[in-house]
Formats: sequence, structure tokens, C-alpha cells
Amino acid sequence: MAAPAQSMIDTRRHQMFPVLEAAEIERVRHFGKVRSYGAGEALARVGQVGLGLTIILGGNVDITQHDESGRRTAIVTHGPGAFMGELAQLAGRPALVDAHAKEPVEALIIPPDQLRALLIAEAELGERIMRALILRRVGLLETGAGGPVIVGRAENGDVLRLEGFLRRNGHPRQRLDPETDPEAKALIDRFHVDADQLPIVLCPGGQLLRNPSEIELARCIGLVGPIDPNRVYDVAIVGAGPAGLAAAVYAGSEGLSVLVLDCRAFGGQAGASARIENYLGFPTGITGMALMARAYNQAQKFGVEMAIPDEVISLDALDDAEKGPFVLKLSNNERASARSIVIATGARYRRLAVDGLEAFEAASVHYWASLLEAKLCAGQEVALVGAGNSAGQAAVYLASQVSKVWLIVRGPDLSASMSRYLIDRITGLSNVEVLTQTNITGLDGHDGVLEAICWRTGASPEEVRRPIRHLFLFIGADPNTDWLSGSEIGLDAKGFVLTGPDGTGERQSLETSRHGIFAIGDVRSGSIKRVAAAVGEGAQVVATLHATLAAIGTEPPDLHPI
Ligand SMILES: Cc1cc2nc3c(=O)[nH]c(=O)nc-3n(C[C@H](O)[C@H](O)[C@H](O)COP(=O)(O)OP(=O)(O)OC[C@H]3O[C@@H](n4cnc5c(N)ncnc54)[C@H](O)[C@@H]3O)c2cc1C
Repeated sequence: MAAPAQSMIDTRRHQMFPVLEAAEIERVRHFGKVRSYGAGEALARVGQVGLGLTIILGGNVDITQHDESGRRTAIVTHGPGAFMGELAQLAGRPALVDAHAKEPVEALIIPPDQLRALLIAEAELGERIMRALILRRVGLLETGAGGPVIVGRAENGDVLRLEGFLRRNGHPRQRLDPETDPEAKALIDRFHVDADQLPIVLCPGGQLLRNPSEIELARCIGLVGPIDPNRVYDVAIVGAGPAGLAAAVYAGSEGLSVLVLDCRAFGGQAGASARIENYLGFPTGITGMALMARAYNQAQKFGVEMAIPDEVISLDALDDAEKGPFVLKLSNNERASARSIVIATGARYRRLAVDGLEAFEAASVHYWASLLEAKLCAGQEVALVGAGNSAGQAAVYLASQVSKVWLIVRGPDLSASMSRYLIDRITGLSNVEVLTQTNITGLDGHDGVLEAICWRTGASPEEVRRPIRHLFLFIGADPNTDWLSGSEIGLDAKGFVLTGPDGTGERQSLETSRHGIFAIGDVRSGSIKRVAAAVGEGAQVVATLHATLAAIGTEPPDLHPI
């Protein structure tokens, strides 16, 4: 019989629940305040913002989770030297577990800002605490504890949307099937919900949402709060992909006050990548989500404020258009102000206008041709749509791994958009067949897996249907710059943001046509569309930010070389 799968709590218990030594507690005592609790008193409640990281000095505290019918399950009991808290404590977000004093308890409470200071001041101890906070969140993600409960069928589009949103934001969740789960039926009866109103979401604080938007859900579970309209940040970064997160980590670590806004989730396109094989330092590859979650936590450690999901819809200057402060208007009518702005809104790969594409995007449709995709299709036939250099490079690479590449081109030939050397190489490859004036007309398959692709060439009424399981799309990317219309920021012919010296020497590298506003990553005209390039630009822009802030009268913080 196979051994039961071990949970994170079983395998990494000693790292999840470390016990601090008396000398260590003494060292960090000045970061917090001592509080006493009576037996049975709550130290934290699910859905409520807690006081901070809590180091137990005397007595025992039970950490539990409860389900929608109020049943409690024990997670751990913390005794003297142990500490209570997980990632929510880093940013002052609502607790995901309940904590009750088993007997009279004395505890050292370290509020979120002091916790961040501690993590930076105490390198080794800080590392142990940070690791425990992350592992505890991973443990909660495993069980779904403390997160909202979604009632709806797994294949329902809105259930997938809400589950996807919570997963991308690293938030625990549970799903109950309305047809098979008695607890789901009890909730539906209790709240008088009709079948066509599903999914419903029960938030940890007890609120019920009927098929909410991602923003409604995020507000309800405390993932995002209101932005202080009177605060002027040193920098507001729009976009939390690799470029925006890198800028946030460097700006935060160098003492600037930073706000990061993203309309969907942290991680951007990289967060959607199943495996990034070419990012320096990860020889076995890393999932985009894991890489981006590390960056997100790292930014929060340095005090960066996250407003996710919050969509920026326009950019204005308060008084002097050239000097700022700048005002970002959000789709929920809120505003955020900053002395400088970093545009890191990336790009979205163009999708093919063919019915049912979305259903196959997870497993069979690829916007990238790396070793990973090549392995998936090794020895098979694949279809590749596109006529630019990226399509040509991908076709040449895939031809060495697969049995046949059908290169599907809408126009009459490749010469208008592809370099000569690539056309020559493709011509020399016996297993690449170029189909010009051809359009994909249909996709067939089941359970997200493609089984056949149909296309039609020229004016021919005949539709070709071939058994192909993998479709590669290289039909360009559109920049996410709609929100900049009216901002007078210079864009190139395709809508990407122009940056750099304009010949007068007045613009700094990565600066847009407006002083104090910068652009980095995929959204920037001429950028290299890679994770490492986006991260590099995020780091580079921070040096320029200091100069800008100094010029407009904000003293840059002391920079100590590390
Ligand atoms: C499937 C896939 C796999 C990939 N694999 C690799 C790989 O293996 N290696 C590699 O080097 N590169 C890879 N790439 C490319 C790489 O992911 C991108 O180059 C990189 O993510 C660009 O980073 P960015 O921060 O500039 O932009 P993005 O990652 O696009 O992030 C931009 C962010 O801005 C947000 N945003 C947009 N508009 C607004 C608005 N108005 N308000 C608020 N927020 C907004 C978006 O929600 C998004 O989160 C891959 C891309 C894809 C799509």
C-alpha cells in the first residue's frame, strides 16, 4: 500500500514552528510590547486584523482553524519561546487562524512595521522567522484554512475565475460542491441562494458574496484596503510583474516609500509561466509563481505597500506637469499620489481569434517555445502561427525536437516580416511546412487537451483537419498602455513607452518623455521580453529615481553599500 502523502506540517515542522532562545527574545524585546491574556481569551481571530507577530513568554496558546459549521481543528500549540503569526502579519492583514490562551499567557507583541525592522536588523534570526512565516502560509494553502469558502461546481467559469484569482495571489481557499457536499447544501439553504446565483463565497468574517468580482472578494478578505489619499509616496509602481517587483524590492530596501499597484495579481506574465528555465541561478528551473511569490514577500519585508488588485485608469500631475507630485486614478475612484511613477504594466500576448482557445490554454496552447514545451511535444506534429522573427526562431528550434512544424502564416509570404537568414533556415528544414494565406478555423479536444486543429488556405472552401495536440502562437504582443492615453507620455507606433535621452541630454535612461515618470520591462519600447531583463531594469531604475527625487527636493535616504 502506498504511504499517505505527508503534509508540509509533517515534513518541515521544525522550520515552521521554531522556538526562540531566551537570549534571542531579549535581543528583540525592544521591537514590541508585553501583553497579558486571561485563560480562554482570544489572541487572534480569523478575518480580523491582529496586533502583530506574537512571541509567547509564558503559558500556552492553541492555534486552531474552524470550518463553516464552526468545527475546530487544532493546528499547533505554542509554548514559551514559540511565536504566532504568518505572512499576514508582515503587512497587517487579517488573521487566517484563531488563537486562544490555554491558560494565563504573557506575550511580546511586535507590530507589522517593527516586525519588518526586526527582519532587516536581525539577519540570521530574521531569516528563521521569515522562513517560518512563509512555510506557515504554504501549510495554510495546503489545507485551504482561513480562506474564503467558494460554493460552486469546479468547472463553472466563475468558480475557476475566483479560484484562479486567489491561487495567483497566494491566498488559501476552499471549494464546496453544491451537489455533493452537505455543508454546501446547508449554506445554500441558510442564505436562500438559488442555483443560478452560484457561486457564492463565504468570507472568513462571515460575509456572504454572490458571484463577486475579484475586487469585491479581495476587499472582503482584507487582501487590499483603501489607499490613504493624503499620503504622497516617493514612488508609485504600476504593475507587479518581475519589473515592478524588482523596482519595489530595490526602492524599498533603499528606504524609499513605495506603493505597488496591480489590477490582477503579483507576478504578471512570469507568474503564469509553468517553468522558467533561463533565469539566472535556477539550474533546474523554477515555476513563475514560486519565483514571483518570493519577490512579493521580499518587497513586503522592505515595507513596500501592495494595492492588489487595484487598476490604474489614468495618470495626472497635481500642479506642475513636469515636477509632480503625480496622481494615479483607480477604477474604484480612489487616488494615489507619488513624487515619481514607474510604469511596469507589461504586455499581453495577442491571442488568436478562434472559438474555444481559452479552454486549451493551460495544456495545449503555448506562447513560448522553451525546452519545456519542446519536451511536451517531442516527436509529435505541432502548429505554429506567426510570421515575425520570434515565430521563425521558434519554428527552427521546434523543428529540431518535433516530427513536423506546420508554420501557419496569414500573409502571402514571410519576407515582409521575417529576417532573410531565418527564412533561409526554414526553407532548408525538411520538417517545416509553411502554409501561407492560411487561417486556423477550429480547435477540437477534451478536458483542456487539444486533439485536432482545422485550417483553411486562401479562398479554398476545403477545411483541413489534422490531429495536432500543440499550438504555438507568436502573433505579437500588445502593451498595456491604454491607461496612459491623455497623459502626454510618448509612445512608439505600436503603443510601447519611449524612454531614454531625447538628444538634449535632459532625459535619464528609462525616463519617459515626462520628468519623474519612468518605464521598465515589457511595456518599454525596445525592451528585451525576458524575466531577467525586466528584473534588471527594475533594479536600474531605482538609481535614477534617487536623482529625480533629489532634484525635486526630496532628500534621498542614506545609501549604505551592502
Ligand atoms: C506563458 C509565458 C511564459 C514565459 N516564459 C518565460 C521564460 O521562461 N523566461 C523568460 O525570460 N521570460 C518568459 N516570459 C516572458 C516574461 O514573463 C516577461 O518578459 C516578463 O513577465 C515581463 O515582465 P514585466 O514586469 O515587464 O511585465 P508583466 O509580467 O506583463 O507584468 C505587468 C503587470 O502589470 C499589470 N497591469 C497592467 N495594466 C495595469 C493597470 N492599468 N493597472 C494596474 N496594473 C496593471 C498586469 O496585471 C501585470 O501583472 C514568458 C511569458 C509568458 C506569457
